[in-house]
Amino acid sequence: MGTVPLAYTSKVNDHLACMKGTESGQGKCIALEYSKENGYRCKIYALRPSPCREFELYIDGKPNPKCNELRMAAGLNSLPEVNFLKEV
Ligand code: SF4
Repeated sequence: MGTVPLAYTSKVNDHLACMKGTESGQGKCIALEYSKENGYRCKIYALRPSPCREFELYIDGKPNPKCNELRMAAGLNSLPEVNFLKEV
């Protein structure tokens, strides 16, 4: 498990920190980047914090409704339905 680069964090109190940009609960995380080629990506994915690691994009094979709610609020498309049982 990685460690979030300190420069990407803001102190909340003596025991907690958050990602810069999310202090108000409404802003965009400093680590979220966009490019035409790749769309939205986390530029510290391997080092992302525990809440990001614990948040499930898919639950029982279906898009997490909370994720889609947040995506819609940010003007993003819903997560695609994915067939996890499909053979490749
Ligand atoms: S996964 Fe976490 S650290 Fe990465 S962009 Fe999203 S909120 Fe930020």
